[in-house]
Amino acid sequence: MATLRQQIATNVLTVTRYRDLLRKIRSYRSSDDLSLVKKAYDFSLEHHKGSERESGEPYLAHPLQVATILAEMRLDTTAIAAGLLHDVVEDTTVTVDEIKTEFGEQVAHIVEGVTKISKIDFASSEDAQAENVRKMVLAMMDDIRVVLIKLADRLHNMRTLKFLSPERQHKIARETLDIYAPIAHRLGMNKVRGELEDLAFQYVDPISYDQVKDAIELRRKEGEAFLAEVQGVIEQKLKENKIQARVEARIKRLYSIWQKLQRQRISIDQIYDMLAMRIITQSETDCYAVLGIIHNQWRPVPGRIKDFIAIPRNNFYKSLHTTVISEKGHAFEVQIRTEEMHKMAEEGIAAHWKYKDGPVSARDEQRLAWLRQVVEWQRDIKNSNEFLATLKIDLYPEEVYTFTPKGRIVILPRDATPVDFAYTVHTEVGNTCVGAKVNGRIVALRYKLRSGDIVEILTQPGHHPSRDWLQFTKSSRARQKIKHWLNVHQRERAVEIGRKLIEKEARKYRISMKSLSDAELQRVSSENGLAKPEDLLAAVGYGKFSARSILARLVPPEEAQSFSGHAPTVPQTEDDTSGGFTSVVRRVFGGDNSAIKVKGHDDLMVYRARCCNPIRGEEIVGYVTRGKGVAVHSKSCSNVDNLLIEPERRIAVEWGRDAASPAWQAGYPVKLAVHCDNRPGMLKQIATVISDAETNIRNIEAKTEEESATVEIVADIADLKHLERIVTGVRKIPGVRDVQRLQKL
Ligand code: MN
Repeated sequence: MATLRQQIATNVLTVTRYRDLLRKIRSYRSSDDLSLVKKAYDFSLEHHKGSERESGEPYLAHPLQVATILAEMRLDTTAIAAGLLHDVVEDTTVTVDEIKTEFGEQVAHIVEGVTKISKIDFASSEDAQAENVRKMVLAMMDDIRVVLIKLADRLHNMRTLKFLSPERQHKIARETLDIYAPIAHRLGMNKVRGELEDLAFQYVDPISYDQVKDAIELRRKEGEAFLAEVQGVIEQKLKENKIQARVEARIKRLYSIWQKLQRQRISIDQIYDMLAMRIITQSETDCYAVLGIIHNQWRPVPGRIKDFIAIPRNNFYKSLHTTVISEKGHAFEVQIRTEEMHKMAEEGIAAHWKYKDGPVSARDEQRLAWLRQVVEWQRDIKNSNEFLATLKIDLYPEEVYTFTPKGRIVILPRDATPVDFAYTVHTEVGNTCVGAKVNGRIVALRYKLRSGDIVEILTQPGHHPSRDWLQFTKSSRARQKIKHWLNVHQRERAVEIGRKLIEKEARKYRISMKSLSDAELQRVSSENGLAKPEDLLAAVGYGKFSARSILARLVPPEEAQSFSGHAPTVPQTEDDTSGGFTSVVRRVFGGDNSAIKVKGHDDLMVYRARCCNPIRGEEIVGYVTRGKGVAVHSKSCSNVDNLLIEPERRIAVEWGRDAASPAWQAGYPVKLAVHCDNRPGMLKQIATVISDAETNIRNIEAKTEEESATVEIVADIADLKHLERIVTGVRKIPGVRDVQRLQKL
């Protein structure tokens, strides 16, 4: 029970906050009649009387704070009155009709919308969730002020989340990150989004939050001193050039720094630009002039200059971005924009929300277009999951939303290809797919689909899946279907190959296959524990038994005499079948490393599998392919796991003696990816290290993005040791984050 003294103290606080609110509204709506707001305050005070927040404050403090946030967004008095009343229907006995009588149709309608959204449980099962999100979107469509109040409500609840139980904290924070922050982002409200994200981050992943926070705290003093210095230089330069602008220095938000760390998989020490400057000018022309001044002063990082004024982001964000490097080697980001762009970037849709000047402005109309589109779709969508999916196009970038030519939505994992799409449509479409058209243009089967792509699959009867598809398909459905097809059909091929191998072997000794009776085949099959002759042929096709050893058992003893006389070195028992290959493989790999043929099998070749390109020194494994010879894979090749589906086709292989010729002559092309900072001179340094290792560079290619770069190099490598030497050398170059060997060339 609160003492009288405490009661007076809280009442004074409430009244002070209320006066604050009125002053805020006055500051941007000096001539508005505030009687509606006053009446709403009295009504809210009356009905929430006696109830408290978990913090121990009177409940009224919450609607009052929500209304203050709305006033900071500069919303109209209708919205602020509705903000004061937003919990009355949900938490007290007041009905929507009463609100209507007291405050009119509009306020009642908004309060009703907010109440409906509050009842949505976003953490429920996906189906229910879809229905809930649909309801919310419909409410939003009706009056955007409903969503703005809901965002303000959520913001205040997040600010006071520490008073709730850990379970509720986690649930509400998760929902904030999943639903509310993305909506704020989509509406261009960066300030609200930023605060929501940082508050939620703290509860959703407290360990990472503390890590990032501690790391920043450690560098804060140094960072702030640096920023102050930079700010001084910029202000001086602006003055010299007679440009009026204000300069803001800041350390970036925790959640955005953490996301960057996640995306680039770098440690916090390497975080490029946790420091940022913002220059707010008075005209667009000045923005470009300031960019020139900045680049004149500091060296820009290539690939990091972004002109969002010429090409605004899809939430209408406008600004110039660049990253430059200070004299001391510190990188920092600079954003340049006009006051108006700044306001739009911070407040988004709320910045232009003026009901007084008529309904919605043209720009806000555009902002709402995506929502409207979603709701229009729902007319055709019976399934609520599909509805949620369409909404998620903007909220969840980790999935790709594509369409059939008839407009049906197909949801795929990120980086999915037309093959994934085909299998999602129908297994048979997947199996017979030979190509695809995306947005009317023919693309490769490994093309990476993007949201909004309209995909048309080209099929050809009789065509069938290839094992290569497993290398680029992303959806589990497609991968599973491809593996299934390969399993079933490879057996048929194996039988065919086995038959051919035996026929060929037989021809050498002028034995006709026809002279071999079915009974004989059946006998040898049974001797090997196989049910029928087909199984025996398949086993030969898979390389489990050599054709010769089977033939030796099929022919009558008198013929076998001459048979063994012709080829005394060939192993006669099935336990030793791999020995024949091994010796041959060893021999050919030791010398000539161009196209290699296996002696005795004109159509069988030994080749290095293209998926992993093994090099001398690596552990390798052979695999008898469908009629293409023996593929030699690296033991670490991801395909080797797939090959385990048919372990009987595996065969032991090994490297021959070292080649005597210089590395670059006998070498194998190997592709390396170097992930590094994007700085001048990097490419040259990498190339030098590699050339110095007595090797030949076949190709070098650099891709830059933001502050990082990926350099891909194809170089001739003699063996594993040679490769290790080069990788170690490249890793030592300052600014190199990682060196990877890419299995594919
Ligand atoms: Mn509330």
